[in-house]
Amino acid sequence: MLFEELGLEEGLLRAVAQEGYTTPTPIQAQAIPVILKGGDLLAAAQTGTGKTAAFTLPLLHKLSQRRAEGGKTLSKKPLALVLTPTRELAAQVAESVRTYGGHIGLKTTVIFGGVSINPQIDILRNGVDILVATPGRLLDHVGQRTIDLSAVEVLILDEADRMLDMGFIHDIKRVIAQLPKQRQNLMFSATFSDDIRKLATGFLHNPTTIDIAPRNSAVETIEQRIVFVDKARKSELLAYLISSSNWQQTLVFARTKHGANRLVEKLNKWNITAAALHGNKSQNARTKALADFKTGGVRVLVATDIAARGLDIEQLPHVVNFELPNVPEDYVHRIGRTGRAGESGEAISLVSSDEHDDLKAIRRLLKKELPGFIVEGFELGSKSLNPEPEEAPRPPMQPRGRHGGQGQRHGQRSAPAAGQGQPRAQRDGQTAAARGPRPERAEPGPSINVNRGGEPGNSHRRGGGDNRPRGAADGNRAGGPPPNRGGGAGRPNSSPRGPR
Ligand code: AMP
Repeated sequence: MLFEELGLEEGLLRAVAQEGYTTPTPIQAQAIPVILKGGDLLAAAQTGTGKTAAFTLPLLHKLSQRRAEGGKTLSKKPLALVLTPTRELAAQVAESVRTYGGHIGLKTTVIFGGVSINPQIDILRNGVDILVATPGRLLDHVGQRTIDLSAVEVLILDEADRMLDMGFIHDIKRVIAQLPKQRQNLMFSATFSDDIRKLATGFLHNPTTIDIAPRNSAVETIEQRIVFVDKARKSELLAYLISSSNWQQTLVFARTKHGANRLVEKLNKWNITAAALHGNKSQNARTKALADFKTGGVRVLVATDIAARGLDIEQLPHVVNFELPNVPEDYVHRIGRTGRAGESGEAISLVSSDEHDDLKAIRRLLKKELPGFIVEGFELGSKSLNPEPEEAPRPPMQPRGRHGGQGQRHGQRSAPAAGQGQPRAQRDGQTAAARGPRPERAEPGPSINVNRGGEPGNSHRRGGGDNRPRGAADGNRAGGPPPNRGGGAGRPNSSPRGPR
């Protein structure tokens, strides 16, 4: 199917072409006709499927047609309202609406908390067609009578499941109470839980239901790997993977705000530029962290689930779960940050012994046996390179020599789909080895050993080409990377061999 077949007006087709989209994604192909007809919609679409354009394009089309027929636009009463759970998602959706509506001339405004309300009041006073908002700040405006929602014709709830998770149900109901009864309702959710269905029956009228991805199945283009590692060595391993593979853009998920801060401090000490994104940061700090990460100013963004929900970072190559989420569904949301809109991506989860129940729950949810690995030099129970890693961390080191060998591919990740892998590696300048063991390439990089059965404790190397006992071959302590004796922190991290 082509975008031209959807009946969208020319200005929108031009914007879509300028974005480089050639064909509508499945959610777009199915949702756009329903929305254009004016019906309510309940859509389960995973993040990264193109759902923002799926509701934005027909919305812009309808409002533009309305204006062409003499309907009023740019009044003080918005015609469409998009509610999102997080400020970042609100900003992102507004940005998309502006991009897709670049040739249409409707006005989009975004309002969210954490920043001064006064500039928002000024902007609203000038009139707005499409309002994108988080529920709390929107209700502040309602309370101050600086917004009038009585003309809203289309209501869109984006990431509705997350809104429920975040306890926005009452706020949503209070917002809905402000809207005219006669309106079109569109609800997007990553999953269809019972709570979502209940919410949907409360305010959708005879909705068309679209279920794009099988429930809770992770995006197929994402290569998922589990790496078993001792808890105390996770930061070291993360730094090692980033440095040795020269990853330039990695989104890392931590469970707690405090843990995210601590990890950022460590990475920065090791000369890997990193920033934290979580709810304790001021909105300005959050905006800056995200902008720096998007533009390459920082290589690593360490985020908590809530702050990172819905983020769309173009062609994000690597997502790392520093800790597994304790809600298995969050795993799907997290890894959905990569592999967006059919792109390939890589998601690595660092799993310590206390997280096996979480891993089991994720495997159960995905109905998938995620492959488990051990990174050479980071075997369970092996010693840290740093005598006191918490107090005096040193840069992680590259194991000398490569232990990847013939047959190591066996049991590891399946061959990438066509077009996968190579472009991503080129984009990052990373070594092929970084994307997993490639026995036929003797490049430096982490050598990841197969863990048979996907459970820790029975890991073994599969016929590595170099069968020397680790440690004996290169003089490493505990078979791992040699201790850093040269104060390698000053070394640039751009070397595929990592800091020395
Ligand atoms: P979303 O699921 O809305 O967050 O979109 C994920 C990504 O897909 C965004 O970066 C969009 O720019 C991109 N995208 C949306 N629609 C298309 C399309 N038809 N073809 C290619 N990329 C798209």
